[in-house]
Amino acid sequence: MGIRLDEKLEPIYREVLSRNPGESEFHQAVHEVLETLGPVLVKHPEFADRKLIQRICEPERQIIFRVPWRDDKGEIHINRAFRVEFNSALGPYKGGMRFHPSVYLGIIKFLGFEQIFKNALTGLPIGGGKGGSDFDPKGKSNEEIERFCQSLMLELYRHLGEHTDVPAGDIGVGAREIGYLFGQYKRITNRYESGVFTGKGLAWGGSRARTEATGYGTVFFMREMLKMRKNGGIEGKRVVVSGAGNVAIYAIEKAHELGAKVIACSDSGGFVVDEQGINLETLKQIKEVERRRISAYADIHKHARYIEGSSIWTVPCDIALPCATQNELTGKDASILIKNGCIAVAEGANMPTTPEGAQLFQEAGVAFGPGKAANAGGVSTSALEMQQNASRDSWSFEYTEKRLEEIMVDIHRTCYETAAEFGAEGNYILGANIAGFIRVAKAMDAMGL
Ligand code: GLU
Repeated sequence: MGIRLDEKLEPIYREVLSRNPGESEFHQAVHEVLETLGPVLVKHPEFADRKLIQRICEPERQIIFRVPWRDDKGEIHINRAFRVEFNSALGPYKGGMRFHPSVYLGIIKFLGFEQIFKNALTGLPIGGGKGGSDFDPKGKSNEEIERFCQSLMLELYRHLGEHTDVPAGDIGVGAREIGYLFGQYKRITNRYESGVFTGKGLAWGGSRARTEATGYGTVFFMREMLKMRKNGGIEGKRVVVSGAGNVAIYAIEKAHELGAKVIACSDSGGFVVDEQGINLETLKQIKEVERRRISAYADIHKHARYIEGSSIWTVPCDIALPCATQNELTGKDASILIKNGCIAVAEGANMPTTPEGAQLFQEAGVAFGPGKAANAGGVSTSALEMQQNASRDSWSFEYTEKRLEEIMVDIHRTCYETAAEFGAEGNYILGANIAGFIRVAKAMDAMGL
């Protein structure tokens, strides 16, 4: 997998493998971080002595529980849910909930592990956690979703709190689900504790710009990466965005606003190419209002093409924004993108590029923004939502977006400068991992064993 580990780190990785059998996504995420930590141990031998890497790789707490619920026909179903409270050195556990049939402990641990470093990079006081369930929201009625969320919260509520653990959305969990989860928390605890969930609706404690934040943030990060290169800005660039969910839609919106042209996007069935630029109004109508497949786009805009099945990364572009899911951009896809002249990639999803893909981009000199930096806009704005909740305030869209932009510019600068400090200028993977790790490791060390 990816780059070979340094001799001090190899045994740590082997220990992670044997303690967490079968959790391949978690292994991948750990390996990717360990690959870059060699130079940190040279500079900070105390981190090795105090076993900080081993400590960070082991979640503080893992909760696994049963969620029984009844469908519309009265039949009983049983799902499994998780909350991995990974690290609270910098603040309450913070991270989303994912509802998807692929969810098992290894996916939640990979996401929680990424979240520790991502949240550290934001510079805001949030620890790392993640949760979810193997429940499949596809094809479920509104009432079934409601009953499932209420049943899940009957167990989860006791582990949460605005100073303890603060969930949000992720794949399959949007404003509707957060409404049902938060409503149930309020009912059980008799507390209007707004800060216990983020991604809430605007009328009941949510933050403006939270819906847009992950996608916007990814494009801000991309803009900053491009500024560091000779051939400059984002204006006029051809962009391909995978996905058609919340992250993808708002990445497309911001890319268009900054003068780029997004010509393709996708869902799990296939992708659509519109050389005139993806029509956002149509996309939002199909995905946010009607909840239909992306193929509907080509029925509405006859000049657009819908291609079923094959990879969106065959569409030639200057910029690639993978915003769908983990391991969706392989080594083969990376080779095609490089051959077609792609100059920059920013990950809107969590770990969408395989280790082979990421390595190929780095070797080819393609600017590569890893998810834990490039998609940190979502969780950053969640932290801004917590700030608003704590002060019983509500900020304007403009102000919130300005704060988000400042945070993304700052994350970019931190990654860039950290990489340069460790002799790897332009390597954002190394910069993000090292900067995030040092911040968490120092806090853990300061607080004792
Ligand atoms: N699920 C998002 C992420 O991967 C957001 C988490 C949050 O807002 O807490 O970062």
